[in-house]
Amino acid sequence: MAYADFYRRSIEDRDAFWADQAKLIAWHVAPQQICDASRPPFYRWFAGGRTNLCHNAVDRHLSARGDQAALIYVSTETGKERVYSFRELHAEVQRMAAVLQALGTRQGDRVLIYMPMIPEAVFAMLACARIGAIHAVVFGGFASHSLASRIEDATPRVVVSADAGSRGGKVMPYKPLLDEGLRLSSHKPDAVLLVDRGLAPMETVAGRDHDWATLSALHRDTQVPCAWLDATDISYTLYTSGTTGKPKGVQRDVGGYAVALAASMKHIFLGEPGETYFSTSDIGWVVGHSYIVYGPLIAGMATILYEGLPIRPDAGIWWSLVEKYKVASMFSAPTAVRVLKKQDPAFLKKYDLSSLKALFLAGEPLDEPTARWINDGLGVPVIDNYWQTESGWPILTIANGVERQHSKFGSPGVPVYGYDVRIVHESTGEELTGPDQKGVVVIEGPTPPGFMQTVWKDDERFVKTYWSSIPGRQVYSTFDWGIRDEDGYFYILGRTDDVINVAGHRLGTREIEESISSHPNIAEVAVVGVADALKGQVAMAFAVVKDASALGDAKAALKLEGEVMKLVDDTLGAVARPARVRFVTVLPKTRSGKLLRRAIQAVCEGRDAGDLTTIEDPTALQQIKDLVQA
Ligand code: AMP
Repeated sequence: MAYADFYRRSIEDRDAFWADQAKLIAWHVAPQQICDASRPPFYRWFAGGRTNLCHNAVDRHLSARGDQAALIYVSTETGKERVYSFRELHAEVQRMAAVLQALGTRQGDRVLIYMPMIPEAVFAMLACARIGAIHAVVFGGFASHSLASRIEDATPRVVVSADAGSRGGKVMPYKPLLDEGLRLSSHKPDAVLLVDRGLAPMETVAGRDHDWATLSALHRDTQVPCAWLDATDISYTLYTSGTTGKPKGVQRDVGGYAVALAASMKHIFLGEPGETYFSTSDIGWVVGHSYIVYGPLIAGMATILYEGLPIRPDAGIWWSLVEKYKVASMFSAPTAVRVLKKQDPAFLKKYDLSSLKALFLAGEPLDEPTARWINDGLGVPVIDNYWQTESGWPILTIANGVERQHSKFGSPGVPVYGYDVRIVHESTGEELTGPDQKGVVVIEGPTPPGFMQTVWKDDERFVKTYWSSIPGRQVYSTFDWGIRDEDGYFYILGRTDDVINVAGHRLGTREIEESISSHPNIAEVAVVGVADALKGQVAMAFAVVKDASALGDAKAALKLEGEVMKLVDDTLGAVARPARVRFVTVLPKTRSGKLLRRAIQAVCEGRDAGDLTTIEDPTALQQIKDLVQA
């Protein structure tokens, strides 16, 4: 079918289109209504339908492919490798569900999952889906303050965690960070369930902390049926950074998400039941939710859960897994490819990659040299796809499963079926229809199935943040700048807000600023994202100290810089650590006191700082310029 017709039907004959897609999943009760758009922007998909994500991901496949691989766990950190069939996964998930229930978890309760990339993390997610508990996975790279704010907001009944993760052979203890996060949070969960990997010693709190091995042994054969949930019930929340320091809980439904993922596996990711899917992301991010756990399993595919670096033991590790497990579709991020690009290209030729149909890349802009290098090296199509935590699945791409169309380097592609994507002027709201006109990328409602329902516990914030930023129009803002060329291909030109993207990880500069400001000798700080050849962007901090005597000489400044970085590591996690912390006597601000972050960013990137007529103290930018050029 021609993609243009497929797309047009998804917008113009929306209900019929999505009623067809809904047939891709199993329903306990069929939906009564396809899209309830009566209360925009709160769109309800498949109302009246009853289903379950875990049933679709696991139980549904038992009869046809019970002995086929479902979860393939590979850790180059611990040397562990294990394949779970759908039948084994089914048993493990029921054990986890029984343990969660024994710890008091009921339908609608939250379970916060703070875990490394181990099978138990996947069991926990699926177990929550099974019993209708709402999971909130927190990326294992986050530290105590990030954790505390999420615990506080999610108010979980149970927290599932582990003794430690491991990165590049270095053990990263989780338990002390979790304990500190729990201490800082005013909400205290009833129970903490801990997987002991034997990597780091754990202090346990009697009555609160429970051992997974002990409890799962008690529930070895317990059967826990799937709860039939309303399609519009909540499946999970996932925290993401925005312009304020407080992370937002992106809330997703059950039925819409299942349908969106099933459809995307077919139309975008070219996934067939029985094949293997390999996403190199982490369960702490949205890609991990959609395309490590739920998407591939819903499609009846085996999914690889990989714990480790892309270059350890060597840069051939991922390709060796493609050969060994006959990976059909692979999903990664441009930063990972840029890391591999620095290694011997012979690794791309060392293994038999004939099973691979395509490599999908997302999470940050895909630059042309990187795209060309990996495209030439692998000899398979490289498909860029643009989306967000909020959307849950691609907004822009080339849906080759519908019709093979060519990609253009530098462009993620065209609007995906279901998404009415427009470009509008940021202050007039006027639609920009001409080619190469730069504006904000927005989505006209109704947003498609799988898209966030709201901000957890904060409908007002959802409307205010996402649907009220364009004057005179109720459209969803992506907060990305974009243009569209004469063929309708979109190009993403960076964020319109203070969110930065480091190695495909989204970080809010305000969160980093808040963390740095908590240092006793920091009076004020500005954090900006600066272009970086490897990571896309890195955070750069410019701070004003309270007591300048602490900066006596270069050594003292370095010491303070080290202290500030450690503070960020300890509170937010090493992912948020700025590349540098530089000290200035004054920050560039407007006369009304607004930080001129964009001007700082421009100076750091060697660009023109733009209109500075409103700047309070022009020497402020000069100080930054001198530091950057030194
Ligand atoms: P996250 O919610 O962490 O997935 O981050 C979403 C943001 O990452 C988007 O708003 C974009 O700024 C950026 N992004 C994601 N995918 C792409 C892509 N394919 N090309 C350009 N930017 C992207």
